[in-house]
Amino acid sequence: MWITPEALLREPHPETLAVHAGTLDTPVNPASSPPLYQASSYEFEDLDEVERVYAGAVPGRIYGRYGGPNGAQFESAVAELEGAESAAGAAAGMSAIDAVLATLLARGGGGLLAGRELYGGTAALVENDYRKAGVPVHFVDQSDVGAVRAALAAHRPKVLYVEALTNPLLHVADVPGLAAAAREAGAALVVDATFATPFLLRPLEHGADAVVHSVGKYLGGHGDVGAGVLAGRAELVEPARAYLVRRGAGIAHFEAWLALRGLRTLALRMERHSVNARAVAAFLAERPEVLGVAHPSLPGHPQHALASRLYPRGTGGMLAFELRGGLPSVERFVRGLKTIAVVHSLGEVATTISHPPSASHRFIAPDARAGLGVGEGTLRLSTGIEAAADIIADLAGAFAGLHERARA
Ligand code: PLP
Repeated sequence: MWITPEALLREPHPETLAVHAGTLDTPVNPASSPPLYQASSYEFEDLDEVERVYAGAVPGRIYGRYGGPNGAQFESAVAELEGAESAAGAAAGMSAIDAVLATLLARGGGGLLAGRELYGGTAALVENDYRKAGVPVHFVDQSDVGAVRAALAAHRPKVLYVEALTNPLLHVADVPGLAAAAREAGAALVVDATFATPFLLRPLEHGADAVVHSVGKYLGGHGDVGAGVLAGRAELVEPARAYLVRRGAGIAHFEAWLALRGLRTLALRMERHSVNARAVAAFLAERPEVLGVAHPSLPGHPQHALASRLYPRGTGGMLAFELRGGLPSVERFVRGLKTIAVVHSLGEVATTISHPPSASHRFIAPDARAGLGVGEGTLRLSTGIEAAADIIADLAGAFAGLHERARA
């Protein structure tokens, strides 16, 4: 039997209903917390609207890869926090770093000058992709502004790239000094401020041209996000955003939603991370099993004065220490920890530990590692937001275990 159009209207087919039924509730009064827009496509009224949206004449979304409402909300929050004109979310910290470096370096001539204590992933990107593609790449001790000036004059790079607080030894980048040197040399200064976050340091305010973050660390804060972000002037961020869109490397909706949720408690967490790290660093500095502690709060830190000036709210939760007895001590110590887990990430609410020679610095030759000050006994602690006394008690228990086993 043929179904007439009238019958169709009277009795919609379940196949069609399944596809189109249901009304989307778009409330007039906004939700007080951001809804998750897990959509990869958007409807247009007609082709005129398509043209107007593409031309930017009216606001509108095009397609998931081009960005969605959650990503845009996260980006605008980061831009406000960083004091930036614009921000672009990325699939990972590495995508954000690649996007800003590649688009700056593509502006004709000139290479890259980077701090020699770079995060391993960034060093691998620079060595495997940029240098092999013909980009001149040089490294410098970013803690020595004089040496940076000399390297800028010698190599005339297009970009100076540094980390606000280096991994794992917490060297403090003198962002105002480096920004002035870069400006005089005609280079753009890009700062990876993953360890610092905009709560503790706003590099753009100190003259940097762009700031990048691995969002899965402190910005997200709960060890459940994989994302990155870059922020700066729009003329710098927008080409990087287009680069990310072309590569399908923008921030995912759910990651942006989680990251924004994490961002809401950034101030509370960073305050607590900083206070706890200071207490733990002071405790470690007194331990006979420890050869040295790297934390900018300690008066013995080579840049203690600079850190006190640049970081009035504290320097966050990261610290490193060197155990007497090298690798065998490290192995026993880590086994003796009860609540502090070995984790190859950082910036989570829980205190975690990592052994740079077997984690972030794994692919660096031992002598080169030693040259960076990272020995076999080096441990990196990401101090969480627990009660400081409990973190210290766990560490103290592991120290006690070292002696018990040594006696046994
Ligand atoms: N920058 C720093 C300082 C990092 O520690 C990391 C990752 O650990 C990255 C960048 C890369 O970020 P992602 O792992 O999100 O790509």
